[in-house]
Amino acid sequence: MILITGGAGYIGSHCTLDLTRAGYNCVVLDDLSEGHLEALQTDNFCRVNLEDVDKLREVFRKYPIEAVIHFAASCYVGESAINPQKYYQNNVVNTLNLLQVMLESNVKKIVFSSTCAAYGNPKYTPIDENHPKNPINTYGKTKLMIENILEDYDRAYGLKYMALRYFNAAGADNKANIGESHNPETHLIPLVLEAASGKRELIKIFGDDYHTPDGTCIRDYIHVNDLSSAHRLALDKLLNGAGSNFYNLGTGKGVSVKEIIDISEKITGKTVKSEIIHKRPGDPPLLFADNKKAQLELGWRPEYNKIDDIISTAWYWEQNRRY
Ligand code: UDP
Repeated sequence: MILITGGAGYIGSHCTLDLTRAGYNCVVLDDLSEGHLEALQTDNFCRVNLEDVDKLREVFRKYPIEAVIHFAASCYVGESAINPQKYYQNNVVNTLNLLQVMLESNVKKIVFSSTCAAYGNPKYTPIDENHPKNPINTYGKTKLMIENILEDYDRAYGLKYMALRYFNAAGADNKANIGESHNPETHLIPLVLEAASGKRELIKIFGDDYHTPDGTCIRDYIHVNDLSSAHRLALDKLLNGAGSNFYNLGTGKGVSVKEIIDISEKITGKTVKSEIIHKRPGDPPLLFADNKKAQLELGWRPEYNKIDDIISTAWYWEQNRRY
């Protein structure tokens, strides 16, 4: 059985769905601070906060857990600047708790949800896994700290990990009708689509004087189902005895904020009003992945290579959302 922490959240629920479709048995652990009961893709659910080590131990006693996929974390770049304590507590301390109970229970395989924010301002693009890691925001720092902790735990305790550095997760699984639902929403694509649907008056563009072709930030948007398949492939590899490793997960293509707005207008047939405001602290101008390592070593093939297809699934979700 695979334990999925944060499995009621956006990426965690899609990953549970993917693993279940592939025949894995999953148990989800989530404190529902950000997750949604409606998003759960398994009946095996434990409402636990990773602060609670005793309850965590009970979960490991109750289920025959072979490996863990660890999503549970706080994940807003902007909030991490205002409230770093929350990020060091939820991301670093709570992960230490999880690792402690894993080691006590002799569970020594983990797929970890890391981030491209670990790289900081790119020295070159596309960013490969050897790029220097100098995060410029607290969120990225906490994720890099955990990668460093995992490296030490492998050396000392033989814990094997796959750290997956995501670029920008986007899109939705329209068959299961699950999708992105944050409160408050801060991510670009859902906000643009809310502006398209009339739920929001306009989208605020965080700066248009970056050194990029149209002056707005460039990101690499990767479909959440493609992220999920990469987790499954990384898990398969760990279960087959592979050593620890780390992979970038992105499409390899950069798209600007203005392009996201233009393409969303085309897909939705609606006008999206926008306003340029000040830059958001901690935002690098340009991030996109070199994903060759994941393709080569995990056999991973992202299916959604066009941003239009990714936004279309997010638009379906926006119009049919259950939570
Ligand atoms: N962004 C924006 N307006 C918003 C939200 C985001 O201009 O209301 C920009 C943000 O500066 C970044 C990109 O959109 O360049 C993606 O931001 P998001 O918060 O979705 O993801 P992040 O890159 O922070 O993980």
